[in-house]
Amino acid sequence: MIFMMGTVFGSFFTLAVYRIPLKKDITHERSFCPTCNHKLGFWDMIPILSYLLARGKCRYCGEKIRIRYLVLEALSGTVFLAEYIALNMHFPYLEVGKIAFFISFVFMYVTIAIMSGIDKESRNIHKGLIVFGFIMQGLYILYLYIVNQTSMYRYGMYLCIMICFYIIDTVSRKKTGQSKYLLQILMLCSYIGAVLGIKLLGVVVVLALIMMFFDYLHKKNIKETRVGFLLGMSAIFIAIIQTFITYM
Ligand SMILES: [Zn+2]
Repeated sequence: MIFMMGTVFGSFFTLAVYRIPLKKDITHERSFCPTCNHKLGFWDMIPILSYLLARGKCRYCGEKIRIRYLVLEALSGTVFLAEYIALNMHFPYLEVGKIAFFISFVFMYVTIAIMSGIDKESRNIHKGLIVFGFIMQGLYILYLYIVNQTSMYRYGMYLCIMICFYIIDTVSRKKTGQSKYLLQILMLCSYIGAVLGIKLLGVVVVLALIMMFFDYLHKKNIKETRVGFLLGMSAIFIAIIQTFITYM
């Protein structure tokens, strides 16, 4: 069940990555084949299964569907399952605290996965997604504050840092007409810091730097490197490891 839930999110990510940069609606408009524009039916929208049953082709025009969609859906299902196992949940004995943690993880994952996908496609980090992530994380921290009286200090600090970068970015964009990639990366780092804390942010950055090095060896052009994508992938990985360590 948890794996299936993850695959549904995975198929939503591919749609969001395609539509958000085009400023298209992501919740109301039905999915369609980009080649023949045929609207997808219920059976075409079941993750993984629909791909396998149609043998990776559009049922209406026969155009091949990229295998990437299948891989992404399976990967997303695996992430959900890994986090669920890491939380050490025993169905049906579900604790409220763990459910809240799982939901907060899902929102973090949704934010970072869509943002990483957009960065991979167009080397641009969507600021709106980072703001969305901060709002969702803020609600979770507020919940923790009410339940266990945990401190909101860390979250508040990173929120302030992010807002500073946001303002600098908005001002510089007004002047130059372009958003600075470095500022976008710093905003993303402050979000990862708010979720994982300074130590794990360090681990995420080191992991991303190692991947950047290999990416550079491969492409020989630092301007082609999708820093946000690499940071995002590391953050999701580290978040799951952190859950394992906390709840095992
Ligand atoms: Zn088609």
